[in-house]
Amino acid sequence: MSEQQPEPVALAWQDVVATARRSAADGLVVGTSGNVSARVGDLVLVTPSGVPYDRLGPEDAVGVGLDGRQVLGELRPTSELPLHLAVYAETGAAAVVHTHAVHATAVSTLVTEVPLIHYAAAILGGPVRTAAYARYGTPELADAMLTALRGRTGCLLANHGTVTYGSTLDQAYERTAQLEWLCRLWLTASALPGRTPALLSEAQLAEVTEALKGYGQPG
Ligand code: 13P
Ligand code: ZN
Repeated sequence: MSEQQPEPVALAWQDVVATARRSAADGLVVGTSGNVSARVGDLVLVTPSGVPYDRLGPEDAVGVGLDGRQVLGELRPTSELPLHLAVYAETGAAAVVHTHAVHATAVSTLVTEVPLIHYAAAILGGPVRTAAYARYGTPELADAMLTALRGRTGCLLANHGTVTYGSTLDQAYERTAQLEWLCRLWLTASALPGRTPALLSEAQLAEVTEALKGYGQPG
């Protein structure tokens, strides 16, 4: 099957698998938890449901249309297909990463919005919200996620995990890593008995958002 795939699709699949493996190697998921997708035109490549990422090869590519109809591969797509398709329907995303990162998931059980403890929140578009709980794989979870994502590039899913998106898999992944770090930071600073961490104001965050437009190397 891989010979019949147009080159961009084969490359994007490689990238999807590499990102899923990275999420396991970096400890953001355990076993077959989490899922990854990338959009190539009207095709959405997704990790298959319940298959260990180290077993995935070029012949295992799974692709669906934007309506969810499977158009590529034999393996069953991720159970979180509604969630991935909802992001593509509502945003200009080209990649979506879902994990069960432990600090972010812990925070999802404690707050409806991640406290503004660090300017890294600007990377996610502002204070990160927690989507209301719904069972994994349901359209209800996808709906709750879209509400939490408004104006953001990532959110927490209550008692479940994280979702981030981006214009590349690297960008979506980087946002997940930053979100997990942010949650770990807040938990660490909150752990001292009798002490409450100082938080940034929305104005301070807005200032950072402006400054970040010029961050890094020119060009
Ligand atoms: P899949 O193996 O079906 O992708 O499910 C993993 C998961 O994280 C569900 O929320
Ligand atoms: Zn999950």
